[in-house]
Amino acid sequence: MIAPVAASANARVYLDNNATTPMVPEVLDAMLAVLQAVGNPSSKHADGDAARARLGAARQDVAQLFGAAPAEIVFTSGASEANHTALAAGWSAMQRRFPERRAIVVSAIEHPSVLAAARALEAGGAEMRVAPVDAQGVLDLTAYAQLLDESVAIASVMWANNETGAVQPIARAAQIAHAAGALFHTDATQACGKVELDVRTVGADYASASAHKLHGPAGVGALYVRKGAPFEPLLPGSQERGRRAGTENLAGIVGFAAAARRALGRLTIDAAQVQALRDAFEREVLAVVPMATINALGAQRLPNTSNVRIARNGHAIDSDLMLIKLDHAGISVSSGAACSAGENAPSHVLKAMGQSDADARASLRFSFSALNTLPEAETAAHALARIVLPLVCRAA
Ligand code: PMP
Repeated sequence: MIAPVAASANARVYLDNNATTPMVPEVLDAMLAVLQAVGNPSSKHADGDAARARLGAARQDVAQLFGAAPAEIVFTSGASEANHTALAAGWSAMQRRFPERRAIVVSAIEHPSVLAAARALEAGGAEMRVAPVDAQGVLDLTAYAQLLDESVAIASVMWANNETGAVQPIARAAQIAHAAGALFHTDATQACGKVELDVRTVGADYASASAHKLHGPAGVGALYVRKGAPFEPLLPGSQERGRRAGTENLAGIVGFAAAARRALGRLTIDAAQVQALRDAFEREVLAVVPMATINALGAQRLPNTSNVRIARNGHAIDSDLMLIKLDHAGISVSSGAACSAGENAPSHVLKAMGQSDADARASLRFSFSALNTLPEAETAAHALARIVLPLVCRAA
């Protein structure tokens, strides 16, 4: 068996699991077996047959993760591609049937890939409508329902937010979209592998996920396309039942399947374990870190995510400064979504929750996995206290 690439290989404490997770040995083993073999799933010889069999088995495992049928799964290069595909594919398919439906509804807290996909369609003539969230980062269903009328082609609301962990009322959001005759997509990337997904019960037409958020490899994801849901491929071609061109990333897909099997087998245990870590961390932070508040504490949250704001009475501590100091202390966290880190703009998610620019710039995301330990959670809380204390004194 291959040794894990886990963060424990060095002395660092890795608490940025919503950005990406360490791969586990069973994923690496499964991938290595594919990387050492030859065979294109489209080839008509024994090597092709073997590759096709592996692809088919992997599709079953990933379908189970969504609560879907294997034929409803389209493998992609990740969740960003799945999100772009769902919005573009759903929108163009609707344009053919109902050209008067030109609007797209997205929530204000969507991942940048969903917002970018909606903006790209807007540049092509679609009308983009943004549904607000409340102060806890949860979709405002009343305002959302007001945006859903007969001019809407597709609505997209994420299952759970990557920055705060706030779980969204997507079953209701899907019902409201369908009642207006629109399609419904959910970006399930952060929920996948952390809570049970059942795309059928929820009533989604499309759902996105990504392997590297559940201890699988980066660069592979999946889009669930409900049987019968309209679909126009972004990349027309023969693979994936005509829904995505390109020779399949078989090693990645097989790694995704191994991660899916692992996640499904341990979902409840891991969720309870990781929530215990996260809750212990938050108890400690609130006890020892001056000016700390937990964002979205009033929402139902993913068990692994903690978004901590260090601000009070007009004093706010810059998250990038805290991030750098934590990094020097050997602790990896995030000061916003990884995809927008480096932009130095306040988080659009925290802004949508009504926070000021300064408050929205004063938050750090700690995201755990079941590979983390209680001492790591405590180390992080105490390191944060050591870093914040002198900064608070200076700010006061
Ligand atoms: N959606 C959400 C909610 C995410 O957190 C991410 C990862 N940052 C993505 C989409 C994009 O996933 P990928 O890295 O596979 O493109």
